[in-house]
Amino acid sequence: MPEPEDSVFDRYRDRVDRPIRRLFSVYGVPEWPYFAAGMVANVVARVASLLPPVVLGAAIDSVFTGDAPYDLPLLPASLFPNAQAAQFELSAALIAGSFVVTAVFTYLYGVAANLFAHRVMHDVRTDSFAKMQALDMSFFDDKQTGEVMSVLNNDASNLEVFLDDALQNSARLVVMVAGITVVLVSENWQLAVVTLSAIPLMFVLTRWFMVRAAPRYERQRAAVGNLNTRLENSLAGVELVKSNAAEDHETGRVTDASYRFFQDTMDVLRLSYVYRPGMELLAGLSFAVTFAVGGYWLLNGPPLFLTGSLSPGAFVTFIFLTQRFVTPLAEVSNIVDQYENAKASSARVFGLMDIPAAVADADDATELTDVEGRVEYDDVTFGYDDEDTVLDGVSFDADPGDTVALVGPTGAGKSTLCKLLLRLYDVDDGAVRVDGHDVREVTLDSLREHVGYVSQDTYLFDGTIAENVAYGEFDATREEIVAAAEAADAHEFIRDLPDGYDTEVGERGVKLSGGQRQRVAIARAILADPEIMVFDEATSDVDTETERRIQESLDDLAADRTAVVIAHRLSTVRDADQILVVEDGELTERGTHDDLLAREGRYADLWNVQMTTLDG
Ligand code: ADP
Repeated sequence: MPEPEDSVFDRYRDRVDRPIRRLFSVYGVPEWPYFAAGMVANVVARVASLLPPVVLGAAIDSVFTGDAPYDLPLLPASLFPNAQAAQFELSAALIAGSFVVTAVFTYLYGVAANLFAHRVMHDVRTDSFAKMQALDMSFFDDKQTGEVMSVLNNDASNLEVFLDDALQNSARLVVMVAGITVVLVSENWQLAVVTLSAIPLMFVLTRWFMVRAAPRYERQRAAVGNLNTRLENSLAGVELVKSNAAEDHETGRVTDASYRFFQDTMDVLRLSYVYRPGMELLAGLSFAVTFAVGGYWLLNGPPLFLTGSLSPGAFVTFIFLTQRFVTPLAEVSNIVDQYENAKASSARVFGLMDIPAAVADADDATELTDVEGRVEYDDVTFGYDDEDTVLDGVSFDADPGDTVALVGPTGAGKSTLCKLLLRLYDVDDGAVRVDGHDVREVTLDSLREHVGYVSQDTYLFDGTIAENVAYGEFDATREEIVAAAEAADAHEFIRDLPDGYDTEVGERGVKLSGGQRQRVAIARAILADPEIMVFDEATSDVDTETERRIQESLDDLAADRTAVVIAHRLSTVRDADQILVVEDGELTERGTHDDLLAREGRYADLWNVQMTTLDG
């Protein structure tokens, strides 16, 4: 499978500067109270959890094996009682108390940290969705839905894992390493140097891992995007797949994409196979060396260049605490995993957010109001890309209330012409005007409020018929909905459905026929009641009777407004005020039906062909 070429998406992703920092500064800062509360609770919980081994050490030296003064690190000895019984009771109370404090603060810490992570993610998710929706059609033409889905889905959940797990684990790591270091150094700094010398080595190993893992993670992420695109495409086209018995072909393509993902994942894992056991080994060696050196010290006095004494209590504290930093440090690999993942993911999320909408409101855009319905194309030239010109110097006018029919071969540019009126794309040259206003000078919302569009392939949302009719006019009453459906000649079939207007249409409206879907779309347009209506006539999926009825409702729809109709059957546009023949992006003929027949040109040819076919 060829590498997907560099898209606008990739370009903006590559330009994102320090994405994790941006994640925190843009989305983290507003949630700082949760973050701060989480961190404080974390410090308290972890410090309390270090207390029992330290108290145990102190108790061994003062209560059990000798009569050294009771001594806890960082606290003055004068705070503690001298009597052994009192020291013993204090020790027991401290040990119990620290477990209680650890539990309570771990709970608080979890709540605050979770709230921080999930509140941030909620904002990121809704923001990226809103930004994505504002992008223009050309973005969605190029972009695979699967890839956008993977940003909104996978990348968002990678960030969630990072903000939740990785942040908590790294906070724990910092507190544990710092806390253990302080305790060990204050118990016996020389043995502490021996024990803690493993930590720099662990950081060297981690650095080695990070440098090598970064490019592999990036490849793995790309492979996930690719796989999702594949799955999404195959699912969306399931009907095509089945009707062509192409299941094996699709399975093959998914297998390829999945295999690449598998290989890229294994590439990452092969590194962690070395890294994780390496970390554990270093931690284990540190434990072994501490045991050997400390034990020798207790039995024979200070070994090698070490000096001074080591108490049995301090030795016990060392042994306990050395084991305690194995777990948080072994998490370093996970934290690094999640950090690398989150860095790549946030670059993708911000990359998506940074793509500018090519079609957007001008700074000084005005509201289009009191529309009469005059439409003007003034020498319009347009291409979807820089290479091909799809429309070339198209000019025509339609007066308010006129019906303009566009006819011509497939691919001539008729739909494109209509999309420019809704400003789904911007012209390259010339201008499209509504009531004399260039569509680029009015707000998109107000333009689309006055220009309605019924496309050839009508899309219905999963939901009820009533919801679909009212899409765009969300506060329409049931009476208005029914009236619109009646005008679209849809009321009868809707009434006959099991739940009438409350019938669920199924995903994309699959439970309705093509003709029914189109009538729902017409009802939607009637309800919206725009002054200008663009209608792309359905080509094939309706029978003659349905077609006639649709035609009637369309004629009603067009009667008191400006209508631009793409006609596939010339019989439907006989009465249009103007017929425009579009060929290869240019207007080659224009006039009424009778004018054009009299000219005996292209239209007359098309008419004769269709009449013959119908008669024959
Ligand atoms: P018609 O409606 O007359 O059948 P269209 O306006 O759909 O023609 O298409 C005109 C030309 O523009 C065709 O060559 C088509 O391939 C191309 N085209 C249509 N839509 C797009 C798009 N979204 N991106 C790139 N090219 C497109």
